[in-house]
Amino acid sequence: MSSVNRVGYFGSYGGRFAPETLMGPLIELEAFYSRMKRDAQFQAEYLDLLKTFVGRKTPLTLASRLTEVCGGAKIFLKREDLAHTGAHKINNAVGQILLARRMGKKRIIAETGAGQHGVATATVAAKFGLECVVYMGKVDIERQAQNVQRMNLLGARVVPVTSGTQTLKDAVSEAMRDWVTHYQESYYLLGSALGPHPYPEMVRDFQRVIGIEAREQILEAAGRLPDELIACVGGGSNSIGLFHPFLADTQVKMTGVEAGGRSSKPGEHAARFEGGSVGVLQGTQSFILQDQNGQILNTHSISAGLDYAAIGPEHAFLREIKRANYVSIRDHEALQAFRELARLEGIIPALESSHAVAYAMKRAAELQPDQIILVNLSGRGDKDLNTVLQQGASS
Ligand SMILES: *Cc1c(COP(=O)(O)O)cnc(C)c1O
Repeated sequence: MSSVNRVGYFGSYGGRFAPETLMGPLIELEAFYSRMKRDAQFQAEYLDLLKTFVGRKTPLTLASRLTEVCGGAKIFLKREDLAHTGAHKINNAVGQILLARRMGKKRIIAETGAGQHGVATATVAAKFGLECVVYMGKVDIERQAQNVQRMNLLGARVVPVTSGTQTLKDAVSEAMRDWVTHYQESYYLLGSALGPHPYPEMVRDFQRVIGIEAREQILEAAGRLPDELIACVGGGSNSIGLFHPFLADTQVKMTGVEAGGRSSKPGEHAARFEGGSVGVLQGTQSFILQDQNGQILNTHSISAGLDYAAIGPEHAFLREIKRANYVSIRDHEALQAFRELARLEGIIPALESSHAVAYAMKRAAELQPDQIILVNLSGRGDKDLNTVLQQGASS
């Protein structure tokens, strides 16, 4: 393992920690992406696909009955649940598949935990006729059978990973191993604001559309900026996508919500800023859940998308400079918010997004009726019905 200069750091977080053989491909990707970032034709193609394939822009909805029940600040929802495939992940998948095409790659490698990123990747690979291989832990394959079926229908090959705990971090290792061997013809399509440079920055840029739209929409709907932004944080892509276009608006508070799981005991949650410390995991330096010997701890969350031991490096930086703050929400609070949003607003949220909704409900009650909270509703909850119904039966 080796790391290059200070390129790709957010303060002291981030960087590029990768096997020597991947340094070349990562540097090539960085150079190519920085060209495409300024390439008008590339950007136009990306925006056109967001409009004609993803269905953007997604609406901003005033949650009026939820607001009334909470009895404080107005709550607005940015509706990423209405994007094609049902979550924000498609924004990033669309951006990166265009890069892969322009780099002349014929084969797409991805890894997935719950299957949402795998579905988004298989979707864009099908759209452009590229071969797609998705690594997924064997345990996750069993838990997320429906997403596996979706990926198969979309023409992707799902490869079961049987090493380690047979979950996401093992799938990431397998995907990296594939990339080391096949980087000449393959593109590694990473799904969150994580991994070695340039991924955290690139994924953020492809998700910024959320915040750019939300900023315009709230100005139009309310005539002013919101008092607070709230988003759930797994790897950190939907939250950084919402936050980033508001960074210069210092009066806008930003809150990221981590998975508090069952309790604050190690192994029972995925709140990296509460139980974690600085370390390197899968290519980047950030806060990770580890023991004194640097062994990665097990994590738990009722929402698979928040159940990961590392948080994106830019969040560690935003927290350090106190531009954003981070809280956690327990499984049972997220479940309650899931049910409330369905009943009060006619929207069934993803369990990940339900963490943001749960915190927004607490927060709204502390604020005044002339104040505004903007919540990113990162995805829809159809995928979570079994989990929620099982909880209902057991509680
Ligand atoms: C994957 C996922 C998340 C968590 O990932 P981030 O990179 O933190 O956004 C949140 N919500 C939904 C619906 C997801 O699918």
